[in-house]
Amino acid sequence: MEKRFIYADNAATTKVTQNVLDAMLPIFTENFGNASSIYNLGMDAAKIVLASREKVANALGAKVNEIYFTAGGSESDNWAIKGAAEIGAKKGKKHIITTAIEHHAVLHTCEYLEKHGFEVTYLPVDEYGRITVEQVENAIREDTCLVTVMFANNEIGTIMPIPEIGKLCRQKKVLFHTDAVQAVGHVPINVKEMNIDMLSLSGHKIHAPKGVGALYIKTGIALPNLIAGGAQERGKRAGTENVPGIVGLATAITDACADIPEKTERIAALRDKLIDGILQIPQTRLNGHPTQRLAGNVNISIRGVEGESMLLLLDLNGICASSGSACTSGSLDPSHVLLAIGLPHEIAHGSLRLSLGEDITEEEIDYIIETVPKVVTKLRSMSPLWERICSTEGLNPDGTPKA
Ligand SMILES: *Cc1c(COP(=O)(O)O)cnc(C)c1O
Repeated sequence: MEKRFIYADNAATTKVTQNVLDAMLPIFTENFGNASSIYNLGMDAAKIVLASREKVANALGAKVNEIYFTAGGSESDNWAIKGAAEIGAKKGKKHIITTAIEHHAVLHTCEYLEKHGFEVTYLPVDEYGRITVEQVENAIREDTCLVTVMFANNEIGTIMPIPEIGKLCRQKKVLFHTDAVQAVGHVPINVKEMNIDMLSLSGHKIHAPKGVGALYIKTGIALPNLIAGGAQERGKRAGTENVPGIVGLATAITDACADIPEKTERIAALRDKLIDGILQIPQTRLNGHPTQRLAGNVNISIRGVEGESMLLLLDLNGICASSGSACTSGSLDPSHVLLAIGLPHEIAHGSLRLSLGEDITEEEIDYIIETVPKVVTKLRSMSPLWERICSTEGLNPDGTPKA
């Protein structure tokens, strides 16, 4: 039998599409000029960067001069948060509000600022991973300089009430940043209607290459410069433009935002089939919000199995997935997101995240639904933990309650 290959880890990174690649290739060998050079080849590059900036702005409902290209989501997050902190400090405002389930690019930046005299409120989330606008309202103080709340969570797919938080922050005159890396291209976004002051996005989560991203900065926000040097990015982020990456990002965001309603409807239906299928396994639970979630996100905890072992067996069966446990960092700490929604360590360790791409087929979904139970049965049959769960809770080896 032909070896299967199903990529279900699109929240980690995505494949560059043919359309994006086709847009990028001539930039390497033909339109390879430096956008700062004054001859035609350089001016062509400058025009290409400007056209790309327009495309990104259009996708977000922003103005062209409000888009700054960066090297990715982490850089955009760092710039927005550290920059807002610097603006705040000048006015004696050294308090920041965020959530407990942000990406590490946000959390570790906040921790850095705590070491430098800032106070950070980490809002707890509910069992589905959501915060409320009331929580933000109650946390805002006279000295709050920034609210930073992710648009959608990368592990459990929960979508936050961003327009409501934006409205509140605008009323309270507090800067509002959102890490929208997982939401761009999947959820309709308009930074003006949503009262967003700064928004981070990343290319490689939407079928552009790795190492390119953008930060939207609303006109009038004097965010400090990130990199000193040449006059690129209106003098705020120096360095010769990554023109191929920028073109890739602009093409990818245009494609991703072209058909959000149709695309999400189709993928969400397959996602729900997949969730229902895996939840047939006894002693499992869905993590994240049942409806306020990204169309392609499935995150399920499976008792009595260890996430990393599950991923290895799934890989042997041709399925690329991810787990809630932070195995990549070599640490055995379970995910901060799963702990924040209230999962005990034991359950947080056995979590499976499948993030579906636009090209996923129903046949592939059926194969995953068929394969996951086999892998779980195998791992449970070898697990002392599972044996203990079954004997203390009166369960059969398959996890059903004893009659
Ligand atoms: C992937 C991701 C990032 C980091 O983006 P990079 O381009 O890889 O630096 C930040 N935030 C979220 C929510 C992400 O999913």
